[in-house]
Amino acid sequence: MLADRIKSIPSSPTLSITAKAKAMKAAGIDVASLAAGEPDFDTPEHIKEAAIKAVKEGFTKYTPVGGILELKEAVINFMELEYGLKYDPEEVLVACGGKQALYNLFQVILNPGDGVIIPAPYWVSYPPMVLLAGGKPVIVQTDEKDGFKLKPETLKSHLSPWTKAIIINSPSNPTGSVYTKKDLEALAEVLAGKNIWIISDDVYHKIILKDEVCWASIATVSPEIKEKTLIVNAVSKTYSMTGWRIGFLIGNKEIIKAATKLQSQSTSNPSSIAQKAAVAALNGPQDFLTTWVDVFKKRAQRLLGLLKEVPGVSCFEPEGAFYAFPCMKKYFNGDSLKLAEYLLEEAKVAVVPGIAFGQDGFVRLSFATSLATIEEALKRMKTFLEMLT
Ligand code: GLU
Repeated sequence: MLADRIKSIPSSPTLSITAKAKAMKAAGIDVASLAAGEPDFDTPEHIKEAAIKAVKEGFTKYTPVGGILELKEAVINFMELEYGLKYDPEEVLVACGGKQALYNLFQVILNPGDGVIIPAPYWVSYPPMVLLAGGKPVIVQTDEKDGFKLKPETLKSHLSPWTKAIIINSPSNPTGSVYTKKDLEALAEVLAGKNIWIISDDVYHKIILKDEVCWASIATVSPEIKEKTLIVNAVSKTYSMTGWRIGFLIGNKEIIKAATKLQSQSTSNPSSIAQKAAVAALNGPQDFLTTWVDVFKKRAQRLLGLLKEVPGVSCFEPEGAFYAFPCMKKYFNGDSLKLAEYLLEEAKVAVVPGIAFGQDGFVRLSFATSLATIEEALKRMKTFLEMLT
């Protein structure tokens, strides 16, 4: 009945596990969930007010497909402040979340068989999106001892005449690793002079957990690399606006024009109301971000401290985003799906199995939740795993 295209991909595991944990809670089961990939803070008041104003003023009709100029200008200003890079409105597309920005991008750059280099562990939706566009995901494993970062020599050995693009996600979902400017320069050296698009997924760039870690974008390495780089960012994680669905694609004019054309035939513009809210987010006060990041830092430390008490578990210390990605190979012979299932059914703790991110033997723990939930989840996990040892 269904097309091969849709049969070839799974549902998003991050969304489905989060939904399952919510459903269990709604059914009265006391689940401690570390599954959700979204900040637990409320969207700031001034952003909500901007949306209410938009509704009251009747800003409720179609907007230009690729977003209102006011928002594109706010994005351009944000790019100058955050990245030190200049862009024109024709180089910006406003999409329904970072997810649609990426989806559109793959649809407009990939021909059948084109390869996209995806360093693993990767965000769950990259390979299915590439497949849906007819491309070929080229999964390249990284090592925990390298901070889960792609090394230039590994990148070099995976390039082929079919390589069309590479994805760099820093800070990374799920590992929390952050590429330094030096790391990016080394990768850029391999990519210089080649016809390969660099997709920089920066949706967590404002959430840096270590004072000594300095976030950088590969687009800033050189003017040539900037021309090859397509930046994906969003208001979702930075401003706790996951439900508003506003993301951006920034870069090459031809690609932005094509992605806008695709959007014109699929969703039309992103919500007019959410666009006004995003303008307020980008142009408004930013001071609350420091408080939020401090909260994430404290939770990360507590989570890492508690993980040390769990037998047979080691964890890379996340440098950004709000996830920890502990190695739990010792359990269930490294079958992370089985481990996650048992943790949910027996210990009532929701986690996302590492296999969903292309790395079995690990699980993803989100600390975008209260300290009380983190403590309860880790207590249950420890008790359950101790029984197995
Ligand atoms: N990006 C978040 C996560 O990884 C939200 C869910 C999704 O879109 O995958 O959990």
